[in-house]
Amino acid sequence: MTHIITSLCLRDRGCIEVCPVECILPGQPADKYPWMYIDPDTCIDCGACVPECPVGAIFPQDEVPAAYTAKGGEYISRVGETGHYEGANHLGKQVVLDTARQLKAGETVDLTADIQPNYDFFKSGPGYGAKDNDNGM
Ligand code: SF4
Ligand code: SF4
Repeated sequence: MTHIITSLCLRDRGCIEVCPVECILPGQPADKYPWMYIDPDTCIDCGACVPECPVGAIFPQDEVPAAYTAKGGEYISRVGETGHYEGANHLGKQVVLDTARQLKAGETVDLTADIQPNYDFFKSGPGYGAKDNDNGM
């Protein structure tokens, strides 16, 4: 199995630093790959990344919620969304996303839709090559 980063991710990058097998890659370019991606072939399911995530975006694959109920105010960031998010990652670098939308309290979102893009990032997307284009966001 693997852990999966979902579209609740706001690119804080804390998870990248704690992963003992360095299998979390930044999505680049961010408008095509809005979050961070876990290499499913390398992840050892240690769970160290989960508590590092300030927005609760990371789940074991079989626990990704099909009906995530929003507290209200959190964002999802997916290709096709046209909202805007600005913030800073835990290193203080600005994060700007034009694929983000704030959720309303009680709104439900199927986060299992974010599982396949994680696999695609490594199969047909940039995969580890994303490190070469990493702009720190
Ligand atoms: S810690 Fe959470 S918000 Fe930050 S990059 Fe990782 S998954 Fe995304
Ligand atoms: S579960 Fe462990 S090995 Fe897998 S991505 Fe998270 S920190 Fe890395």
